Amino acid sequence: MITLRKGEAELQATLAGIRILVLGGDHREVEMVRCLARQGGEVYTVGHRPYPGYENVLQVESLGPFPEAIPKVDAIIAPMSHTDSTGKVRAVPEEGVTIWLDDRLFERFPPGTPLFIGKALPVVKETAGRWGIRLFETAEDDEIAVLNSIPTAEGAIQIAMEELPITLHGSRSLVLGLGRCGLTLVRMLKGLGVKVTAAARNRAQLARAAEMGAEAVPLDALGEVVPAVDVVFNTIPALVLTRELLEKMPKEALIIDIASSPGGVDFEAAADLGIKGILAPGLPGKVAPITAGRILGKCLPRMILSALSSEGETPAKS
Ligand code: NAP
Repeated sequence: MITLRKGEAELQATLAGIRILVLGGDHREVEMVRCLARQGGEVYTVGHRPYPGYENVLQVESLGPFPEAIPKVDAIIAPMSHTDSTGKVRAVPEEGVTIWLDDRLFERFPPGTPLFIGKALPVVKETAGRWGIRLFETAEDDEIAVLNSIPTAEGAIQIAMEELPITLHGSRSLVLGLGRCGLTLVRMLKGLGVKVTAAARNRAQLARAAEMGAEAVPLDALGEVVPAVDVVFNTIPALVLTRELLEKMPKEALIIDIASSPGGVDFEAAADLGIKGILAPGLPGKVAPITAGRILGKCLPRMILSALSSEGETPAKS
């Protein structure tokens, strides 16, 4: 489990004097706010409930139509997920609150203000760019992504256990993609006694999967593998399980697609063929919000401090 030792964080007080605006999110952002506050940050929240016992966490009632409704802040944090393609941010703790990452919001901050967001969709990139807001995509930060792969893989395995009428132990699983989430999945599945086949286009990743005891196959050999699978975990954010491949799969097989929307599966073809496919986004926030919040609370201070010490630069990613 990811831990942020309370005493250690208080002693370090790495965020002392830094004002951070947190926009919406889910229960992981709630835990993140607690972590940031314990590290000395002055945190302003929108769409969150009060934080009893945290004097340095203040609620912003509404973003309102006037600039003065927004406090002066050094950094903005938007959620890891929960931002849609129009720039609308969900606030799970207070569902009634609507937040838009739009011109009216960004015009209120000085150019150069850093905005940390899980993944910036095109409309957010374009609007933030117009106002000189510096975007940092936290889901692409390696430290966050590797740590997040733990609750993500656990969540995917949890779904498989709930859905399958057989034990994972002894089952035949196929993991597609061997990046941060794929390798963690292979490791966990191997630990559960699963017969794991792993597929990727990258030969070094395949070598790592073989080293971990999986059968490693290149993506272009999938046609030979899919007829004998019980469950497929896809992590590739591009169409990989095509209708042609799905036609070769057993009808009883289960597909769990964790790749970012729209995933890597032809879900229409799967439905036509009677194969159950589940697109499973935002797993860390759903299955382990406290752990996921602590990951952000541990990694974001480094990113915030680094962004504030390099003001003026406009990196697309961390
Ligand atoms: P990653 O480290 O970048 O790994 C992605 C894997 O997919 C790599 O093996 C990569 O191969 C492969 N890949 C990417 N594009 C490909 C293509 N066009 N054709 C073939 N292979 C391709 O990413 P990650 O951190 O493991 O995350 C995987 C996906 O899960 C992402 O979409 C991420 O947003 C999502 N995610 C979802 C959750 C959730 O809760 N559902 C949580 C975390 C992440 P190369 O290295 O050769 O490019």
